[in-house]
Amino acid sequence: MSASTRIPPIAQPFVSERAKKTLDLVEEFVEKDCIPADAVFSAELGEGEKRWQTTPVVMEQLKEKAKKLGLWNMFLPKNHFTQGAGFTNLEYGLMAELLGKSKIASEATNNAAPDTGNMEVLAKYGNDAQKQQWLAPLLEGKIRSAFLMTEPDVASSDATNIELNIRREGNEYVLNGSKWWSSGAGDPRCQIYLVMGKTDPNNSDTYKQQSVVLVPAGTRGITVQRMLHVYGYDDAPHGHGHIVFNNVRVPLSAMILGEGRGFEIIQGRLGPGRIHHAMRTIGAAEKALEWMIARVNDEKKQTFGKPLSAHGVILEWIAKSRIEVDAARLIVLNAAIKIDQGNAKSALKEIAQAKVLVPQTVLTIIDRAVQAYGAAGVCQDTPLAYLWAGIRTLRIADGPDEVHLQQLGRRENRARKDAVIAKLKWQREESERLLSAAGFKPKSHL
Ligand SMILES: Cc1cc2nc3c(=O)[nH]c(=O)nc-3n(C[C@H](O)[C@H](O)[C@H](O)COP(=O)(O)OP(=O)(O)OC[C@H]3O[C@@H](n4cnc5c(N)ncnc54)[C@H](O)[C@@H]3O)c2cc1C
Repeated sequence: MSASTRIPPIAQPFVSERAKKTLDLVEEFVEKDCIPADAVFSAELGEGEKRWQTTPVVMEQLKEKAKKLGLWNMFLPKNHFTQGAGFTNLEYGLMAELLGKSKIASEATNNAAPDTGNMEVLAKYGNDAQKQQWLAPLLEGKIRSAFLMTEPDVASSDATNIELNIRREGNEYVLNGSKWWSSGAGDPRCQIYLVMGKTDPNNSDTYKQQSVVLVPAGTRGITVQRMLHVYGYDDAPHGHGHIVFNNVRVPLSAMILGEGRGFEIIQGRLGPGRIHHAMRTIGAAEKALEWMIARVNDEKKQTFGKPLSAHGVILEWIAKSRIEVDAARLIVLNAAIKIDQGNAKSALKEIAQAKVLVPQTVLTIIDRAVQAYGAAGVCQDTPLAYLWAGIRTLRIADGPDEVHLQQLGRRENRARKDAVIAKLKWQREESERLLSAAGFKPKSHL
């Protein structure tokens, strides 16, 4: 069954014939070209310091092939941008799921974070000169980029805390401060940082203090102090940098959109990106399930005289995983449809639902697959340990679960409380009236 025939019925009416054909091409490219090449990519990276100076040849070969197949920049939705491959968020969502099955498929098709979010920012908010200098080579996959918001010295899930100072001095901005978890900054091809900081720290409106400026990597005064590991994985060559800015100077033309508009930019940047992560995560769950099914049917590795699949509990793991992954997919596709019908702002609830539910659900599925493999599941012989580590970070990155849940809870409570209280009061009174009329005594004390 090809990918286009597996589209959930609820989403089918929204998927064009062209998208279905592309979806099948993506599946073939991921399964036949990218997944077998994942190991080549790791081998070409090698060991030690070399990992931060190498661009694996296999990546450039795959990029060439993807371009020829028309599998390029599918993430830029057609109703908001002209520069992409002309698909909707829903159609790309289905493709992103497949890309999530390989370590390298997203980059090979130029759909990898953080470049995707950065390209959206530049396409949406950049001026012509900024687009020409940075968006054009990013769209071609010639350079890479990083988004620098999080800081080591403040709780960054509350973005009003961000401290990096951006001071205007003559024709320049001068940046001082530090950033960490700057994903992508390790890549030798990373040429541009989008840096969020404060241009107006004393503004009484805390949401007008921040701005985002474009800073070329390697500008004088920038030190990449170290690369951070994720559960021991260095994620090279992309990596996550801890970066210090010491009197870093950029021209005034480096400002995106205007001083004080940083919040607008980060909010615009994160909506669809969360859906991309969620869909790739669904792909990771499908991959974990495939690996689990392969292990539990391995005739060589039987326990107590039968393969694992003959033990009832294991079939239950498979069944539960199937239910959970299918349910999680629907919540993401629903969010994508909602964005397509309006924009990311009108789909905040649906995006947050997907952002919270998908990683939690998929971590459970991967954990079952790990368990099915025994000790092999936690080592490098399966993709499971690496998948788990990467997806665990999604409960923190782009804002921790708690922040999204708090916002969801607050909105749901505010929107519904008056109507719900009034309805329940009316229903209680009506019950009491009906009970009395029928000769019964009312029982509730509420
Ligand atoms: C792999 C990875 C990649 C990343 N990539 C990038 C990147 O490219 N660019 C970038 O700028 N950042 C990046 N980040 C950083 C990420 O966005 C931040 O870690 C995240 O926003 C949380 O900020 P913090 O780490 O400062 O946690 P803090 O703000 O210190 O929060 C700590 C914990 O407090 C709890 N908490 C916070 N608020 C509430 C609340 N309202 N109610 C209850 N509990 C709460 C949560 O459990 C939270 O995990 C990345 C992180 C990871 C792990």
